[in-house]
Amino acid sequence: MDRASDQAFNQSGELSDYNLFSTHSALVAACAREGAAAQHAALSALGERLGSAAMFALGDTANSNPPLLRVFDRFGARRDEVEFHPAWHELLGRLVAEGLHTGPWAEPCAGAHVARAAGYLMWAEIENGTQCPATMSYGAVPALKPQSGDFGVWLQLLMSRDYDPRFVPAADKRGVLMGMGMTERQGGSDVRANTTRAVAVGTPGPGREYRLTGHKWFFSAPMCDAFLVLAQAPRGLSCFLVPRFLPDRSVNGLKLQRLKDKLGNRSNASSEVEFADAWGLLVGEEGRGIPAILEMGVYTRLDNAIGSAGLMHQCTVQAIHHARGRHAFGRLLVEQPLMRNVLADLALESAAAVALVMRLARAFDAQDDEAAGLLRRLLTPVAKYWICKRAPAVCGEAMEVLGGNGYVEEGPIARRFREAPLNSIWEGSGNIMCLDVLRALAREPRTQDVLEELLAHTGSDDPRYHRFAAALSADLRAGAVAEARARELTQRIALAVQAAVLLADGPSAECEAFLASRLVSGAPAAFGTLPPGTDYEALIARCYTPQSP
Ligand SMILES: Cc1cc2nc3c(=O)[nH]c(=O)nc-3n(C[C@H](O)[C@H](O)[C@H](O)COP(=O)(O)OP(=O)(O)OC[C@H]3O[C@@H](n4cnc5c(N)ncnc54)[C@H](O)[C@@H]3O)c2cc1C
Repeated sequence: MDRASDQAFNQSGELSDYNLFSTHSALVAACAREGAAAQHAALSALGERLGSAAMFALGDTANSNPPLLRVFDRFGARRDEVEFHPAWHELLGRLVAEGLHTGPWAEPCAGAHVARAAGYLMWAEIENGTQCPATMSYGAVPALKPQSGDFGVWLQLLMSRDYDPRFVPAADKRGVLMGMGMTERQGGSDVRANTTRAVAVGTPGPGREYRLTGHKWFFSAPMCDAFLVLAQAPRGLSCFLVPRFLPDRSVNGLKLQRLKDKLGNRSNASSEVEFADAWGLLVGEEGRGIPAILEMGVYTRLDNAIGSAGLMHQCTVQAIHHARGRHAFGRLLVEQPLMRNVLADLALESAAAVALVMRLARAFDAQDDEAAGLLRRLLTPVAKYWICKRAPAVCGEAMEVLGGNGYVEEGPIARRFREAPLNSIWEGSGNIMCLDVLRALAREPRTQDVLEELLAHTGSDDPRYHRFAAALSADLRAGAVAEARARELTQRIALAVQAAVLLADGPSAECEAFLASRLVSGAPAAFGTLPPGTDYEALIARCYTPQSP
């Protein structure tokens, strides 16, 4: 006989086994708008694979079974290995097989970076730890491409779609992944404070051998096959490729000290490392380490913004799903006017994030275009700052939509909420991004022209938009902006570009709500404050439209 306490009713049920792409109209539209229409079918097939219950389960399993550091074997010999749960290897294998690490470099085509951005955004909805080695490998390619010498072999292996987890020399492997080491105990943002030293083994110069002594305080994905590492050489801060194995096949002097016990991103290992006479090759010129490693940083920062857009979207989708399946006070939550406002506001924030990251990704497809280069330079820190800042607020609000079920670990939100602040911290924290925006504007005066061109081509004559864009231009033209105002300025650029991209598709409920709320009233401190008359249903549907059975 059934007992009341064994019954579960008025619960929304699990949301999985759905297509992450075709149910997300804002993403489908962005791909078409930004030059990846031809990849629609491939992205839809990817969305189907990634949205499976098996993928959701793998993401949960990998994060509830964090990696373990094995410094020594049982006889006391040094190993410096990290052991991962099989779910991590399964996920990373699938990510690499999908080409979400270096696909656009291995198989360049029109819209390749935009299509990858869409795939990477969907991956972020499922699992985030595996994105760390993926994005560093994506960024390592442009950092190594201009170099001559022994780097070609590494480039070839980075392009592989075969994930090879074995701890063996790269020469024996079917494919490799790369990490990076910049942050030291005494300074992360200010890498000029780095104390790790590098000394040439013979003749110094690009592609030559050096020995490194020192440490890195954060060193993620330490089971990568090689790392781009900053160290002080006689001519200044320089960038080195440091592999896990030496050319003679012995293990290189990277001593893993311990793994960080992190708030989130628990599937991924983040270590502290000592370089004990570690062997490396100089990348670029001595003293030019910061520009060399920033070639990588531009891509990882793009990916931080895309990853946060994915997190926001998945949390919002889970909130919509819950509200459609849960009754309170005689109606479904989604039918309650105030809840509809909250959901629509979250959906709007998600759509605006998608619009900005996908527009930025398009600038990465136009590699040789000067204007696109200036746009990448400006909008990468803008998007990294603004979207990563919005993610914890969106994920937190989505959690509350699920009520108590949102706060418990077995639900879909808790892990993603713990993940949300990270993209804002690593790869250059919020203030560093905003100061970088000022630098981009000051160093190249054409940058503002390119921004204004983007803002001018909306086809809209909406006075609210034109007032906002004109005031931004006037402030920029007035000359140097004080450092203390850098966040305010960066936020205004982000909102203006988001509005411009949304308007480019013609008038819509989304545009109307964005102009009325974000441009007129400013970004909301709490969601659920869209003005009366907003078409809530339309905004929610753009974020998530369930497949018909
Ligand atoms: C999980 C995790 C994994 C990581 N993995 C790696 C990795 O693999 N490789 C790697 O190199 N690093 C890694 N990092 C380090 C990360 O990139 C740094 O933590 C980050 O860049 C900030 O540096 P910091 O911690 O030294 O803070 P600080 O540089 O001390 O900065 C502290 C705060 O001060 C602000 N600030 C700094 N300068 C200014 C200024 N001039 N004006 C105003 N505000 C300022 C910053 O924005 C920040 O909010 C990782 C970090 C985390 C959390």
